[in-house]
Amino acid sequence: MACRALTLTTIMKKHYTIPFFIPHEGCPHKCVFCDQNKITGQDQILPKKIPEKIEKYLTTFPVSDAYVEVGFFGGTFTGLSIGKQRSFLLPVQKYIKRAQVSGIRLSTRPDFIDETKLKFLKAHNVKCIELGVQSMSDKVLSRAKRGYASKDVEKACRMIINNGFLLGFQMMLGLPGSAMQDEYFTARKAKELGASQVRIYPTLVMKDTVLADEWREGKYTPLSEKEAISRSVKLLLYFSGKDIKVIRCGLHPSEGLLNGNSFLTGPFHPAFRMKVESRIFGMMLDSLLENKREDIRQISFNPQDEAALIGYRRENLKRMEKLTGSKQNFFTPDAKVPRRTLKISPPLQSLKKQAKDVQ
Ligand code: SF4
Repeated sequence: MACRALTLTTIMKKHYTIPFFIPHEGCPHKCVFCDQNKITGQDQILPKKIPEKIEKYLTTFPVSDAYVEVGFFGGTFTGLSIGKQRSFLLPVQKYIKRAQVSGIRLSTRPDFIDETKLKFLKAHNVKCIELGVQSMSDKVLSRAKRGYASKDVEKACRMIINNGFLLGFQMMLGLPGSAMQDEYFTARKAKELGASQVRIYPTLVMKDTVLADEWREGKYTPLSEKEAISRSVKLLLYFSGKDIKVIRCGLHPSEGLLNGNSFLTGPFHPAFRMKVESRIFGMMLDSLLENKREDIRQISFNPQDEAALIGYRRENLKRMEKLTGSKQNFFTPDAKVPRRTLKISPPLQSLKKQAKDVQ
């Protein structure tokens, strides 16, 4: 019941996460895609600096209209000592008591979850736990040297849900040995295990990783951008049809990715999600072309989808010109139209129909 109430609040209010990167204290694993030295060099927070950053953020939006969370990312939170975890969680508590912050989210590994850890997190107002699952295929997990199996993920998810937390799933596309069906299987498992939100990350080849060596030796080929977008489209449609929120699709364009210092190759684009959303609207417009809908008078869309509807480099506007043979603007913003849906006049199918088609 508590989770349901939280979900409704989240929908009604604008959502803000005040992000902190926790120190990376060395990791006993060696996932093929990870350069631990690079992670350790990230801009990490000291506990005493937490209040200053929260207060700064709280001046940037109207708190009464916002659902504000503090997020701890970048490492295995529950792998830190209890003392360290407490030192990060305690400075947030006074903002929760004052109702300026609603709760805390954090990310961790599936094999660093147990009942004692969850009890501790619950007592410190953690509401959402994001698991770096990456894949539910044992073959893919083993090849990526993640150090746990799918049954460990299942166990962790059940404990998280049974203890009343929201569950987030982080999954990767294009890991070595991972085909679309493995990723679709992971998506279905996310639903089955109770995830309410997902992050999707295409695998990139970064310097000083095992994957970089495999790529140089011809043992690993990253996904092309086209394939990564195509797989992401299918997953976004699937999750959309299951009311699971995709809170990120594509890696955050950190400095190492933009200036090429740590990035070698792979499907990275700073506007990756925009390209995926744009492709989804492109598919809907293509279906109009296929159905020879030259009789269209108006296409209504949710104003929040405007950029994706117009498309990356206006590709979807060009589609419409092809369909109608004119440069007339048929698009009308309408806040009543659900996200990622087009209301066609005269009527046609919506995204919901397409979401069903890929299930
Ligand atoms: S990605 Fe793997 S190797 Fe890198 S920090 Fe996380 S668990 Fe450790």
